[in-house]
Amino acid sequence: MGLKIAILEGDDIGLEVVPETVKVMKAAAAKTGLAIDWLPLPVGRKGHVATGHTMPQVLLDGLKTVDGWLQGPIGHNAYPRDDPTWINPPLRKRFELYASVKPVKSYPNIPSVHKGVDIVFLREVTEGMQSGSVVFAGTGEFRPNDEISIGMRVVTRKGANRVARAAFEIARTRPRKLVTAVHKEPVFRLVCGMFAEECRKVALEFPDCKLEEVLVDGMAMKLVMTPQRFDVVVTTNQFGDILTDEGAGLVGGLGLAPGLCIGECQAMAQATHGSAPDIAGQGIANPYSMIMSGQMLLEWLGRKRGDQAASKAAALIVQAVGKVIAEAKHLTPDLGGKASTSQMGDAIVAAL
Ligand code: NAD
Repeated sequence: MGLKIAILEGDDIGLEVVPETVKVMKAAAAKTGLAIDWLPLPVGRKGHVATGHTMPQVLLDGLKTVDGWLQGPIGHNAYPRDDPTWINPPLRKRFELYASVKPVKSYPNIPSVHKGVDIVFLREVTEGMQSGSVVFAGTGEFRPNDEISIGMRVVTRKGANRVARAAFEIARTRPRKLVTAVHKEPVFRLVCGMFAEECRKVALEFPDCKLEEVLVDGMAMKLVMTPQRFDVVVTTNQFGDILTDEGAGLVGGLGLAPGLCIGECQAMAQATHGSAPDIAGQGIANPYSMIMSGQMLLEWLGRKRGDQAASKAAALIVQAVGKVIAEAKHLTPDLGGKASTSQMGDAIVAAL
């Protein structure tokens, strides 16, 4: 069958961690007979130098032709100051990648606030309270006079239903099969109410999974006290923005925070961390988050397309990364090791 995947390196450490990700994905694909057609596309500084634009037309045209892509971090520091053509590519919105999927997993030998944590967060990212994403034109915020500011929150049945469905589809593949819908329906009766209604509706189609509902303030506390009890967590944009960072903080922070933005047919692998200009060019960036984002892309495409070779390649990467972390011989400095970015990538390839 085969897949077509674009490579967007981004800026700063993106130029270091994205190539490691491609290396690992290529090695895993070779093991399982998965054919991947790779399409490097210019973005960020490279796009700016080549075309005068950080989100060139060739990038947008190219992305329409692929199953998914690797998106390295975009950095402000990589551009001349006050460059008016600088933009952080709004690819999520343009390609309607409606859910940000963020797994949070602790490892026994990596320092973290909690052990035994294994949660997948799904945050709706095309509506909610984020001003840029809720309106077609203008913004979701306005100030009628200097004493009043007003912000809008948008929840649609379509948006709530599809993120809930994506959560149950993931829960179905996991041993505990528990979906926790996070909202605050008793206060936000209409917006949170609609989100909760759609979660309940979708739950009826997944009798093998269980739905529980937790109010967002209680969730913030429970995550700190007993994160081990959660499996898949689904929520609206703003609540998810906060809870996913809290989740990453539970297990060791940015070095261990992969992510995948999913749409109906395409997905974008994007780690939580930024372009880390403070360590760029030193070869010490931790490639875990980007590699595991690539792993999530293969897993998602494998499930969506029924592509066994992609699913197997994704499973192999999980095993290999787990082995390298457990052995702790080839870890980057942020994880307490002495390895370079490429040495950690090589160790993962060897473990495959
Ligand atoms: P950052 O995530 O780049 O860095 C925060 C701290 O974490 C730094 O000390 C950095 O060295 C460290 N860090 C981050 N990733 C690491 C990794 N893989 N390995 C080891 N250490 C790592 O956040 P920031 O400094 O606030 O932002 C830097 C730039 O990145 C800014 O221009 C910001 O706008 C941009 N940014 C981009 C994205 C994105 O494109 N998705 C996301 C966040 C920030």
